[in-house]
Amino acid sequence: MELRIGQGYDVHALAEGLPMWLGGVRIPSETGFVAHSDGDVAIHALCDALLGARAMGDIGHLFPDTSDEWKDIDSKILLDIVTRKVCEGGWTICNADITIALQAPKVAPYIGTMRETLAKVMGITADRVSVKATTTEKLGFVGKKEGCEVWAIVLMQRL
Ligand code: MG
Repeated sequence: MELRIGQGYDVHALAEGLPMWLGGVRIPSETGFVAHSDGDVAIHALCDALLGARAMGDIGHLFPDTSDEWKDIDSKILLDIVTRKVCEGGWTICNADITIALQAPKVAPYIGTMRETLAKVMGITADRVSVKATTTEKLGFVGKKEGCEVWAIVLMQRL
């Protein structure tokens, strides 16, 4: 059995009046993420972790923000494309672990839905997808509500 681990990291700025998509879920908020896509910073970090596990580059390379094709796109579509790509050649996703740093709004009520949503897109069960959330105790750009930071780790295997 072969194992591969990958990590991903992403940041998006927050601005008023934009929809907030996080972990594939629409979260009621007065602010949302500034981005070329729907700005789902959690999915972007997850995609980079998946691509990292297979040494297949990153989502900026795969879905350039200079291309109109990906403008305002639902990031779940990007995750679906990335999942198919990294699973080529008999690879499967063992698990994913995601940490979201956001000062507000509170992410906790949406974690269950995020796990279900992300697992469904990746074709695995929700018990293999962990989503954790933290504030930064009002420190730094996250604490000042200027942006959101996400880390993701993925393990893949081939039997
Ligand atoms: Mg991004």
